Formats: sequence, structure tokens, C-alpha cells
Amino acid sequence: MNYLSTRDSSVKVSSAQAIAQGISKDSGLFVPETIPSLSMQEIEAMLQQDYTQRACVVLGKYLTDFSEEEIRESVTAAYAPTKFSGGYPAPVQKLNDDTFMLELWHGPTCAFKDMALQLLPHLLTRAVSKVAKGEQVSILVATSGDTGKAALEGFKDVPGTSIHVFYPYGGVSEIQRLQMATQEGANVGVCGVHGNFDDTQTGVKQIFTNADINSRMNQNGKMFSSANSINWGRLVPQIVYYVSAYVDLVGCGEIKMGDKINVAVPTGNFGNILAAYYAKKMGLPLDKFICASNKNNVLTDFIKTGEYDRRRDFFTTASPSMDILISSNLERLLFALYDGDSNAVKALMDNLSAEGYYTVSDEVKAKLQAEFYGGFCDEEATNTTIRDIYTQNEYLMDTHTAVGQYVREKYVEETGDKTITVIASTASPFKFAKSMLYAMRGVESDLDEFEQAEMLAELTKTEIPEQILQLKEKVVRFDTACDVSKMTDYVCEKLGI
Ligand SMILES: *Cc1c(COP(=O)(O)O)cnc(C)c1O
Repeated sequence: MNYLSTRDSSVKVSSAQAIAQGISKDSGLFVPETIPSLSMQEIEAMLQQDYTQRACVVLGKYLTDFSEEEIRESVTAAYAPTKFSGGYPAPVQKLNDDTFMLELWHGPTCAFKDMALQLLPHLLTRAVSKVAKGEQVSILVATSGDTGKAALEGFKDVPGTSIHVFYPYGGVSEIQRLQMATQEGANVGVCGVHGNFDDTQTGVKQIFTNADINSRMNQNGKMFSSANSINWGRLVPQIVYYVSAYVDLVGCGEIKMGDKINVAVPTGNFGNILAAYYAKKMGLPLDKFICASNKNNVLTDFIKTGEYDRRRDFFTTASPSMDILISSNLERLLFALYDGDSNAVKALMDNLSAEGYYTVSDEVKAKLQAEFYGGFCDEEATNTTIRDIYTQNEYLMDTHTAVGQYVREKYVEETGDKTITVIASTASPFKFAKSMLYAMRGVESDLDEFEQAEMLAELTKTEIPEQILQLKEKVVRFDTACDVSKMTDYVCEKLGI
């Protein structure tokens, strides 16, 4: 199967090339030429399969230049019981009669990014060996908090690779900062950026597409790749857990094979919800996609009006991993809604970078609204949702997941649609202990982050994940920050080019 650039569909590459390269030279994102299908028989057969086997089926359809054995080895290593506590990577928990939480944070860094980033290094190193000429791969990452750590864990000490992570300085939670600052490994680097996530992401994209830097990389036997969800290799593993959750709901008798369910996703860069969209296009019986934003509600407005307008204030919220105004993966959805018209997508993206906004056609807006519902949740509603759900259901959800829960409730109120819904639960509450404790108690605390985590654990009779407790003992290795304009220099210096 070929992959095309969303901005130039005459660019055709293999899946290995798409993963190795990360982003197309024209700044477009790689998308599969056709979306492969998953039959009801195949879905039914998954009732007898574990997560790893389900992943092999889904990935095999997209990564057609990888052998079955390569995929199996990669998946088995990524989802090993030593990596995901409890030995089951994506358990589904019942919240109430029509709501199920798809818990995606049982991996090494306690956020859903592990689901893809434990696998990506295996796929990427194999992809590079297929398409490159022995180049060293230099991964650059822009993170709003969770991708950075998950990518560092995935790529630390992986031979033939190095990884450098940029994050908005002061824009991530204290646990997220410590997770990155204390990262071990000889091939890693972390640097704060004086700017927000959008500045950081734009800075990294500019380095990737800078012809001069790329030719210097080339001369030095190096190539860039991306571990952000602009990389197809990040997106494809995320399709698996929606399929797996559906099969699990059938397996425990909550739905019958073929019943349609809704999916609600707390959204930032639009990667996670887009994976659910691909699952539906493959044939998984999904109905509506509930796209939940925090106060940075650019997507809510887009779904309502068809106009994407980033010319607005940027807010720092209690759900920092969703503090984003330029949602990269929306470009892939546009490509699908415009039936693969890359000229149309390029025109919109050019308008976005030149003017800060774009408007889709009426036809595309209608298609968008037929499948997507957009809503947002402000800071106060996030806090109330966390407290109420804990009180009613004894279920502790993190600040991001609470945004998903709230918007799904709002959707039901507005539409009366009580279809069984899977909500993506994207992080452990203990990554955001301070905000969580504030939500639960309504008062600020002067205690340090770990003391607050302990208090939260006691208050809610929940356990702090071991990975977070261990941070306390670790040495801070990376504590610098640079201006956005200095990101390029930083990379050149670190990579010696
Ligand atoms: C990254 C992240 C999100 C947003 O996911 P996207 O794929 O960027 O839409 C939501 N919640 C948490 C905890 C995250 O780390």
C-alpha cells in the first residue's frame, strides 16, 4: 500500500518510507492511499485473541512492506507485560450503564502516548533499515507534556538513533517536567522553549523542512524523523485500541457484534480521535465522534462553523497536553473529507499559516458535522466533573479525561443520544496531582508535588504508580530553555552539523 502527502498526492511512498521520514518535504502528512477494511469476521475472530494478536491484524493491513514476523516481534516487545502493568495494555472499565473508560495509561510513562511510542522505535528502526543507507536517525519532538517523556522512554539507548525533545517551558505539569528532566540514556536531550506548544511544534516542523539543514544532515550521514503524531507510525498503533475496546465490549456481553457505539476523546493535536475515525472507515461499527476540547476550544468552533481560526488567546489549563491551537492531524481528516484532493488541503494549510485561519466548503462542513460533535469544558467544569464522578462512581479520572467525560455528558443532554460510549482515558491522575487535588478539595496547597500525590492517593484510596514515585530519587539532567528562534542552533550544535 502506498502513502500520499496530504499536500501533494503525486508524492507516493511506502509505509516504511512514510515512517522513516515522518513528514513529507512539502510539509504535508502521509496518509494511506486507501483505508484497508476489517471485516466483521475478522473482528469476531478477535474475541479469541489477546491485544498483541489484535495489533498484528490491524498493523498488518497498513504496514504492507513489513513482514508478518517483523510486525509480530515489534508488537510483542512493545506490549510486553513488563511494560504495561497488569499485562493488559488497554483495559476497558465500566463507569455506568452506557459509559466505558478505555484506560490507555498503564504504560511506562502513565499517559496514552505509550501505546504508540513503545511501538514506534521498533517500527522506525526497521523502516530505516529498509529505506535508508545506514543513516543515524535523529528524532526531534515537540511536546505539550506527555509525548516527550513517552518518546524518550521509547528511544532511549536504541542503537542508531538519538532523540531531542522540546517542551513549552513553564507549560507542563511538575511531574511531566521531572519525568523529562530526569530522563536516562546516552542518546537523549531535553530543552525547554520560551513559548507555547504551538510555537514549539512550528519550530520543530521548520527544522524538519529546512533544506539547508537537511543537506548538512545528509553530508553527516544523518536523517531526521519525527515521533510526534504527524508520523504515521504514531497513528497506526492507536487504531488498534479502538478495535480492541469494541471486541472487549462484545466479549463481556455489553454490546452485540455489529452494534454501533460512540467514541469520546479529549483532544489536542487530533491524533487520538483521528485513529478512531480510521477504525470506523475500516469497518468498525462506530457512530459519532465526540471531540472534547479544554478552554483552547478552536476545534469546537471549527466543528460548529466550518471555520478554523487560531487567531485567539492561548490558555494554560489544568489539562496541559491539550493546550494546542494548531491541531496538526486535522489535516489528515480534511484530506479524507475532501476525497483526497491535496490541492484543496494545501490551499487551506497555506491560508492557516499565512492568515491564521481557513474555512472549509459547505459540503465538507456537512460531512464533518454528520460524524463529529465538538464541545469544550472550562476549568471550573473540569474540577466539578472530577469531583462529581469520584463521588458518584468512586472513579478517579485525570484532568484530560474529565474534559472528555464532561463533553460527552453535554452531548447526551443536547442530543438525547444515549448510545453506549467509550471515552478515551488518556492519563493517570497522578501526573497532574496538584490540579487533581485542587479539583477534589477546592483549595490550593503549598505541599510539594509528591506530597500532593500522596494526599490525593490517601483521599481517594488509589495507588500512585510506581513510575511516578521513583521520580523522587532521580537526578535532574536537563534544566535549560531557549528562545524559539534558537531551536535550530540548538539542534545543529547537539547533532554536530
Ligand atoms: C496528548 C494528550 C491528549 C491529546 O491527544 P491528541 O492525540 O493530541 O489529540 C489528551 N490527553 C492526554 C493526557 C495527552 O497526553
